[in-house]
Amino acid sequence: MSRIRVLDILEQTMADGPGFRTAIYCAGCKHACKGCHNPQSWSFEAGKWMEVEDLLDLIKADSMSNVTFSGGDPFYQAEAFTELARRIKEETDKTIWCWTGFTLEEIQADERMAGMLPWLDVLVDGPFILERRDTELLFRGSPNQRIIYLHGEPPSDDIPGTVPLVKLR
Ligand code: SF4
Repeated sequence: MSRIRVLDILEQTMADGPGFRTAIYCAGCKHACKGCHNPQSWSFEAGKWMEVEDLLDLIKADSMSNVTFSGGDPFYQAEAFTELARRIKEETDKTIWCWTGFTLEEIQADERMAGMLPWLDVLVDGPFILERRDTELLFRGSPNQRIIYLHGEPPSDDIPGTVPLVKLR
């Protein structure tokens, strides 16, 4: 049974991607971005362990909401999040947005992390750079961060700054 170290779960949040979402905030981040919005999430000991199965039940119980992975950085717990993402995509029609301090290229170069990409719909990538902070940006703090559609064309409610990519699966 896989477990994820979870800092917090927000249900029906509208702040973590488009529409209603169940947002899983995981514990643990080593990027140490200056001005990080959530430094209490840096410790890998923060929060509590939760079984992937229990997180899946909670996600499935909300028929209205799509899913967001955030933190912390979910890619430090890549294996367990990959399992959760795979189960979500195989067993529901929900979309998954995932925030990370790694760039897409760093993730693609690491076999352990890259395994999650086929199961995500959208990756918001890269570290937050305080000197480049732009409060006008949607869903990200600095313009180096990209909203990347991993499987083709963005939905009709296109969001400025997105980077559509070719299909990975
Ligand atoms: S990646 Fe996110 S959580 Fe981690 S230090 Fe940077 S802003 Fe904070």
